[in-house]
Amino acid sequence: MAQPDASHYVAGAPLEDNGGTPFESYDPATGEPIARLRAATKAVIDAAVRSADGAWRDWAARPGVERGRVLLRAAALLRERNRELSVLETRDTGKALQETLVADAASAADALEWFGGIAASIGGQMIPLGADFAYTRREPLGVCVGIGAWNYPIQIAAWKAAPALACGNAMIFKPSEVTPLSALKLAEILTEAGLPAGLFNVVQGASAVGSNLTANPFVAKVSMTGSVPTGRKVYTAAAEGLKPATLELGGKSPLIVFEDADLDDAVSGAMLGNFYSTGQVCTNGTRVFVHASLRDAFIERLVARTERIRIGDPLDEATQMGPLVSHTQREKVLSYIEAGREEGARLLTGGGIPEVAGFPNGAWIEPTIFADVTDTMTIAREEIFGPVLSLLTFEDEAEVIARANGTGFGLAAGLFTKDLARAHRVAAALDAGTLWINGYNLTPVEIPFGGVKASGLGRENGWAAIDHYSQVKSVHVTTGSVDCPY
Ligand code: NAD
Repeated sequence: MAQPDASHYVAGAPLEDNGGTPFESYDPATGEPIARLRAATKAVIDAAVRSADGAWRDWAARPGVERGRVLLRAAALLRERNRELSVLETRDTGKALQETLVADAASAADALEWFGGIAASIGGQMIPLGADFAYTRREPLGVCVGIGAWNYPIQIAAWKAAPALACGNAMIFKPSEVTPLSALKLAEILTEAGLPAGLFNVVQGASAVGSNLTANPFVAKVSMTGSVPTGRKVYTAAAEGLKPATLELGGKSPLIVFEDADLDDAVSGAMLGNFYSTGQVCTNGTRVFVHASLRDAFIERLVARTERIRIGDPLDEATQMGPLVSHTQREKVLSYIEAGREEGARLLTGGGIPEVAGFPNGAWIEPTIFADVTDTMTIAREEIFGPVLSLLTFEDEAEVIARANGTGFGLAAGLFTKDLARAHRVAAALDAGTLWINGYNLTPVEIPFGGVKASGLGRENGWAAIDHYSQVKSVHVTTGSVDCPY
C-alpha cells in the first residue's frame, strides 16, 4: 500500500473527513488497490478555501526573493527524494520507472526552481507622463484552484503551484481521482521547505469537487488540465463567476516528416511522440505525415524498433513501457483500435493485449501502428490517449500544412527536415501552441506551454505563466497641483 496519512492536505497538515465518499487508487500493473481515500466534503472544501484565503495576503506582501527561496528549497527536496517519489508515481500511474525518474518529480522540481528564481523579478513598469508618471504593480489574484489530469500528476501540480506561489497567490489543488497520491507529497514537501500553512492545499475527489471549487466565490482563478469536454464545463463555470481560466486540454497533433529528414531521428521523434508514457501524453504527434518517397523506409525502421519496445513490470528500470493508467482507459483505446480496423486502416503491428508474466491483471496494451490512414478516419480525428500511431502520407508542403491544420485541436506539432527555411516557414503556418523542429515532446519549463483552438486557453511555464497568475494595477502619480476647471 501507498496509503497516505489522510486524504487531503489543508492548512499545512493532513486532513480527513470520514463523511467523504470513499474511493481507491489502483496500481495499473497489478490491478490492486494501493490507497483508500475519501472525496472532499463541503467541510473540507470550506476549510481549504478559508485557509487559502487567510494566507495569501501575507505571502504576497513578502519580498519576492523570500517566496522564491521557499520554492527553491522545495525543489531541492524533490530532487533529494526523486526516487521515492518516482516509485510512488509509477505505482499510481503505471508509467515506467525509467520515465518517472526523469520526467515527473524532476519536472516538478524544474518548475519550482525556475519560478523560484524569477519570483524576485516579477514587477511592473514605470511610465513617464511629462511631469507626472505612472507605474504598474503586478499583483496576485488571490485563491487559485488547480485541477489535474492523471498522466503527469506531480508535474501538473507543480506547473500550476510554482507560478501561482511565485506571484503571491495561494493554491488549492485537486488531483485527478485516478492518481491522487503524489500531490499530497508535494504539499508535505512545500510545508517542509517553509511554505506557510494554507498556501498549498490538496483536496481529493472527482468532477463534483472540481466544479464546487471552480464555482466557489472566494476562488479567483482556475487552471485545469484535462480533456476538451471537461475544459468546456470548467470554462463555463469560470465565466459565470467572471474568473480567468487557464485550460490545458487535449490534442491530435501532427508530426510531419519531409523528404530530406534524417530518417532515424524522425522515427525516434515519432516513437517518442506516440509511445512515451504508454501514449498518454497530451501533445503526442499521433498523426504522422510521412512524405510518400520515404514511406516504405520509414515504416520498416519504425515497425522494427516498435516491436523491440520492452513492456513489463514498470518498477523494473529496464522496462520501457508500462500499462495504461486503468482498464477503463484500455477499453477506450481498444475501441479506437477496432475503429481503425473497421474503417480500413492497415494494422502494421500491435493492436492487442500482451501477456506480461507475473502481471495477469494489468491494463497492458501493445504499441500499435496503423498505415494507410486517411484524414477522415476516426483514429485520425479523435484523441485516443494511448500508444496508437497513425501513418498518413503526403506529396507537398502546402497540402500537408492544410491537412495538418484540418482539426479542431491545436496543442502541438512537429516537423523533421534539414531545410532551414522550410522548417521555419512551416512552423509559422501550423496551428499549434508548441512546435518542435527536428525533435518531439520536449517541454522545458523555460518555454511557454499551451494550446490554440480547442486545445486550450492561456499558457503554463515561462514568463507567459506569470500573466495568468497575476493582474496589473496602474498607479497614476500627480506631481504638480490638480488641474481642475471648477
Ligand atoms: P478529464 O477531463 O477527465 O479530467 C481532468 C480533471 O478535471 C480531473 O481532475 C477531473 O476530476 C476534473 N473534472 C472533471 N469534471 C469536472 C468539472 N465539471 N469541473 C471541474 N473539474 C472537473 O481528463 P483526464 O482523463 O484526467 O486526462 C486526460 C486528458 O487530459 C486528455 O484529453 C489529455 O490530452 C489532457 N491533458 C492535457 C494536458 C495539457 O497540458 N494540454 C496535459 C495532460 C493531459
